[in-house]
Amino acid sequence: MRLVFLGPPGAGKGTQASRLAADHGLCQVSTGDILRQAVANGTPMGRKAREFMDAGRLVPDEVVIGIVRDKLAAPECAKGYILDGFPRTSGQARALDDILLDFSAPLDRVAAFVVDENSVVERLSGRRTCSACQAMFHVKFAPPKAGGQCDRCGGTLVQRDDDREEVIRKRLSVYAESTRPLLDYYRQQGLLTEVSAGGAVDVVYAAVKAAVGIR
Ligand code: AMP
Repeated sequence: MRLVFLGPPGAGKGTQASRLAADHGLCQVSTGDILRQAVANGTPMGRKAREFMDAGRLVPDEVVIGIVRDKLAAPECAKGYILDGFPRTSGQARALDDILLDFSAPLDRVAAFVVDENSVVERLSGRRTCSACQAMFHVKFAPPKAGGQCDRCGGTLVQRDDDREEVIRKRLSVYAESTRPLLDYYRQQGLLTEVSAGGAVDVVYAAVKAAVGIR
């Protein structure tokens, strides 16, 4: 099964993608995670991406398209995948069409996460990630048991640089301008299903599975 999760930052795409991927043996392709790893490792790509990410802007298309092309060709994605955070521009969507054509493997469904802007800001500004195992917490909705430490591995919890309120607002405006038009692009291809993503994780998960046709 080949899926795209579309939606604004903070809509819960990553949370739902990692759960669906684990439950159904799919490969989760999160361009944000791959870029953050490259930044942490100080690779040339990471050094190039960092200034865009810290400012809440999009990393240039050629960088992310290269990442996705390599990843989708990898054996671990042969059984199916969830693209989480890609495509984000019309150039990326067209490049994805070309990649899918090359692989003769069209998309099955695009799930569009619908959530209001105020809850996005609340979700993102309270989000904390374990610096060791990347587990996610939320100061209000999923607080860690021991202050600033990860329940799972004891690692230190950190706030992503781009989860500060002013950067969140910028990311939302970039979403509205560059990514939201892709909803029509996929609607016209008959691939889009909207998912109401404002509720609790389990409720949204059920809606996601229904949207992509998994029981
Ligand atoms: P995310 O974790 O998906 O919210 O992505 C975090 C940041 O990584 C974004 O604000 C962008 O700077 C960058 N990024 C992730 N995916 C893409 C993409 N498909 N195109 C351009 N930039 C991206």
